Formats: sequence, C-alpha cells, structure tokens
Amino acid sequence: MKVLVVGGAGYIGSHTVRQLLAAGYEVAVLDNLSSGHAAALPNGVRLFQSDLLQPEQLTQALAEIQADAVIHFAARIEVGESMCEPLAYYRNNVVGSLNLLQAIQETGRRIPLVFSSTAAVYGTTDAVPIPEDAPLRPESVYGQTKRMTEDMIHAAHAAYGQPYTVLRYFNVCGASPEGDIGEAHSSQTHLIELACLTALGKRPKMMVFGTDYPTPDGTCIRDYVHVQDLADAHVLAVGALLDGRHDAATYNVGLGHGFSVREVLDMVDEVVGVRLLREEAERRPGDPPQLVADASRIRAELGFEPQFPELRQMVGMAWMWHRTHPNGFEF
Ligand code: UDP
Repeated sequence: MKVLVVGGAGYIGSHTVRQLLAAGYEVAVLDNLSSGHAAALPNGVRLFQSDLLQPEQLTQALAEIQADAVIHFAARIEVGESMCEPLAYYRNNVVGSLNLLQAIQETGRRIPLVFSSTAAVYGTTDAVPIPEDAPLRPESVYGQTKRMTEDMIHAAHAAYGQPYTVLRYFNVCGASPEGDIGEAHSSQTHLIELACLTALGKRPKMMVFGTDYPTPDGTCIRDYVHVQDLADAHVLAVGALLDGRHDAATYNVGLGHGFSVREVLDMVDEVVGVRLLREEAERRPGDPPQLVADASRIRAELGFEPQFPELRQMVGMAWMWHRTHPNGFEF
C-alpha cells in the first residue's frame, strides 16, 4: 500500500514516514521544505518538492504514485505568528487543505485522508480531561484554521464519502530513539525544546510563565506525547481506514494525564545534569491552566498504546537529539 505524506519532511511527518516504512508501507513525501528538511527523510523516499498552493503538482504526485492513502501534516503551526499574519495562515492552512481535498476528489477514487489537527481547536475549557465531543472554540487563527479544515473534511465526507481520520494532538515532544531526527524549527516556543536549547547555552535562562495557576504547583499542566508514539497513531489510523474498519473518526492523541511546567523543568535538570537558571514571569496570554486529553477513544478503537509514556523518556530523547545536533539538520 502506498501512502503520500504531505508535509512529511517536518518534525512529526518525518517520524511518521519512518514508522510507516517500518510497518511495510511504500511512502512518498510532498513537502515545500519551508520548515521541513530533506535530510530528515530516509534514503530512497521519493520527495516531491512542491506545496499545496500549487494544485497541479499535487494532482500529478497523486496520479504518479497512485496513492492508497494520504496523511496531511503541511501547515504553519505557530499560535503567536498566526495572530500577526492571519491571512498567510488562512491561505496556507485552509486553502492548502482545500486544494488537497479537491485533488483527492478529482482522482475519482476514495483515497482516505489522515489529518493533523490540534488540541488548540478546543480553546480554553474547564473540561479535564477533554473529550473529543467538547465544544470547539479555538482562540487563535492557527486553531481556527485547523477547525475550518476539520469542517471541510466533514463536508467532503458527507457529500462525496471522503474517508478520514482527524487526529488532535496535545503537546508533542521527544525525538527518535536513535537520536538522528528531532525537532528543528527556526523559531521555537515549546517548553522542552527551549529547555534543551538553554542547556546547550543557546539561551540564558528558562522563563516559567505563570506560577499562580489553580494547579498543585501553580504552573500549567500539559499532556505531553512522544513524537514516535504520535507517529504510530498515524500508522494505526491509516491501517483502520484502509481495512475499512471505519471511514470517519476523530481522536485525541495524548496520554490522558499531564505534567506541570515545574515537573518538566525538574526532569530536564535531572536528565541534563545541570540546574538551569529559571525566572518566574507573568502568565503567557492565552495559556489555559490544564490541557489534558481524554485519550480513551483512540486506545479503545485503534489499540493505541504509547511506548514512551514516561517524562524521563520524552525529555531524554529530546536532549539526545539536541545535544548531538545543536544546529538541527544544518551541520
Ligand atoms: N512555557 C514556559 N516557558 C517557556 C515555554 C513554555 O513556562 O519558555 C509554558 C507555557 O506557558 C505552557 C507550557 O509551558 O504553560 C507548554 O507550552 P508550549 O509552548 O510548550 O506548548 P502549548 O501548550 O502552548 O502548545
């Protein structure tokens, strides 16, 4: 079976490409390399360097490889940036996804689609943990673009029978157990990645955004999921669609429990062997106190079983990647 991975050269995409190959799929990648890296792809994986805003090339790639399934990761993903450059986000994430759905529909075949969505579609919520049927009230343009894409996918399913699985990611972290691929964005906002960069001396200190939240230690709690476990969730989702076990499903991907900012930073100190300088700061605008997935549906329906549920494993692998690749994929 052949899978076209759109955005497959990025952080989550490249881990998914590996896990698909390990599961016996043939894989091709379409990526514009705006934030992905060709070096993150295994040898022999065909790369169409193109983007979703060029639909002719997409149509050509789908026809050329005769894809049996598509996984769609290609998106701009920064909440703060999405508020400053909203139109770029709507164009890239919404128009790009529209072009992809259209190209799939024009093949005349029902090619299943797995779509990368996010917990940001829920917005601030009191629900702990958050079930998939919680109200969707995204608070950022980024979250809105993901919600709009989910809506388009539902409509394509209703009208043309487009088979789909939407995966809503919680906090993705870690790196490959081999330590050779990992997170390498040009601008970083994520807690574990920033802590690793601080440990490398690339940043002076860690800021702790908000210490007066209604949580046991006063800092925010997030549901962290290891990137390889998330990649495996995509493999399970593709398998279920191709087997015809379902043709329309939405799953949270998280562990179902969270860690606080302090717990994460304590673990980084332990793994790195140095106590990083910390500064307590004001709350970061828009950060809810707790975001924890109700992850029971994906476990029950797809048999999702995380291999790396320990915070020590997530931080340890992230650190191994950053320590050995201080400049990401640029040597
Ligand atoms: N955070 C922090 N210091 C940092 C970066 C993040 O205290 O330098 C906090 C942030 O306020 C949030 C949590 O860590 O409570 C996770 O943030 P991240 O940006 O990693 O993921 P998000 O949950 O926002 O997607």
